[in-house]
Amino acid sequence: MAQNEDERPGDPFLRQMLGYSPKEARAAGLCIVCKKSVNPKTDFKDELSIREYGITAHCQSCQDKVFGAEEPQNSSTVFSTILDGDDN
Ligand SMILES: [Zn+2]
Repeated sequence: MAQNEDERPGDPFLRQMLGYSPKEARAAGLCIVCKKSVNPKTDFKDELSIREYGITAHCQSCQDKVFGAEEPQNSSTVFSTILDGDDN
C-alpha cells in the first residue's frame, strides 16, 4: 500500500470532482478546472500565478476567476460582512 506522499489531503476529493489531482493535472500539462493545456513558461502573467499553478493546477484564466482579477481585496470585505451579520 504505497501512499503517494506528494498528495495533499484534498487531492482525492479534487480527483473525484475534477478528474485529476493537481499533481496529475500538472504532470499532464493541463488546467485542473477547464482541462486546457497549460504551458507554465508562457501562460502565466507573473511569478505568483506560476507558483499558484504549482499548488492548485489552475490556469491563468481560472485563477483570475477564482481569485477575482479586478479587486483582490474584496474577500476581506465579504468576511467582515459575514462576521457583522448577527448584530440584532
Ligand atoms: Zn483553466
